[in-house]
Amino acid sequence: MADWNWWPQFHDPSLRLSLRDQLAVHWDANLRMLRDWRACVAFVWISLLPVPLLFLLPAAVMLNWDGTSPAAPALAALGFLLYLFLQHLAFAAAMRRTYIPFVRIALTAQGHPTCLRCGHPLGPVPPAACPECGSAHREPG
Ligand SMILES: [Zn+2]
Repeated sequence: MADWNWWPQFHDPSLRLSLRDQLAVHWDANLRMLRDWRACVAFVWISLLPVPLLFLLPAAVMLNWDGTSPAAPALAALGFLLYLFLQHLAFAAAMRRTYIPFVRIALTAQGHPTCLRCGHPLGPVPPAACPECGSAHREPG
């Protein structure tokens, strides 16, 4: 689970969920997250971190452009690609930090007991402690 991916890993790949089960888990996780304003604020805050680049990069390019050089528009385009890259990283980080805990709670609530700390699947009869990280198992509220 600690391995870095381009897209957040919502649960252990050994847990094979049907599309219907995945939708049910994410619906539940979304509703749970929406009831936690701190998680929502953190998600929006982290997601918006790269947005100033959208304004600063073109402004910096235009201020230094003589109006004829093709380098400036190319630089602006490169800056926009950089923004998209950083925006994706910020969105993925926001999901990892603020949304995935709710996915783990939803998985457990929907009959797939999952360690709330590390995301390790705990099997149909969860042990008292996670065999992966040692965190105590608790039922979601
Ligand atoms: Zn664990």
